[in-house]
Amino acid sequence: MHELPRSWACDGFRPARDDGFVDLQVVEQVATLGEWIGEGGVVVLSGAGLSTDSGIPDYRGPSGSARRSTPMTYQTFTRDPIARRRYWARSHLGWHTIGQARPNEGHLAVARLQRRGALDGIVTQNVDGLHQAAGARDVVELHGNLTRITCLACGASTPRDHMAARLDAANPAFAGVAVAFNADGDAELAGTSLDGFTVVDCLDCGGMLKPDVVYFGETVPADRVARAFELVESCRTLLVLGSSLTVMSGRRFVLRAAKRGIRVAIVNRGVTRGEPYASLLIDAPLGIVLPHLADLSPV
Ligand SMILES: [Zn+2]
Repeated sequence: MHELPRSWACDGFRPARDDGFVDLQVVEQVATLGEWIGEGGVVVLSGAGLSTDSGIPDYRGPSGSARRSTPMTYQTFTRDPIARRRYWARSHLGWHTIGQARPNEGHLAVARLQRRGALDGIVTQNVDGLHQAAGARDVVELHGNLTRITCLACGASTPRDHMAARLDAANPAFAGVAVAFNADGDAELAGTSLDGFTVVDCLDCGGMLKPDVVYFGETVPADRVARAFELVESCRTLLVLGSSLTVMSGRRFVLRAAKRGIRVAIVNRGVTRGEPYASLLIDAPLGIVLPHLADLSPV
């Protein structure tokens, strides 16, 4: 078993609560989690809370505002040309912000934990690609990745930046102003007509293009789900990072782990629906907890 460095217990970790007092319970909890990570066999399940420090809002989390618009569904996207045009206009503007987001201390710490062999896998509900941008490998992206565009007709995959350049060229006069955007990369617009926006199609076959993300009403590809379950079922600790586990798409992995007697540790700000299944629930900033865990000696 991994031996914790001496400094860990005495001066390594003193997170202050909002009221300024040091939360000793969190210190103890993080030490326990450090021991579990030291034993290896950890699989990470990450959610929007991990990316908030990168400027991507978590509309379900404690600091996120409620989603203002109805989420795009696969059915609406594919069947309603007007809704699709408006979606692309908003998404295109949102991309100007999301495309510039950079991994934060939490992403970097996860990548460091993976490099030192402490993680057996990373499963994410996020579509921002920031785990990989931080250096993580073999990430199972449950809901896809906004940085890719896929053709619904021929299946061709192209980089989002390429699509963005094409949309810029096709819409020289489009001067929408994004006032907010959410974790799906979907911007809110004020005072701008979206109906003049021109959408572009697949250069190979003329087919309909769509961000390579799973929409509401769309199922996660079966092989992706199977891979995630495989990782979860074979791990010693399922480590949930920054997810309120509101949607079943993520919560089902916690349920499966709990059913199998696999311990579940959750680091999350605010309320989480995983609480009944958690062996350890740490309500503390990921940007503080994760770097400390990653600074532990190599396994
Ligand atoms: Zn195509």
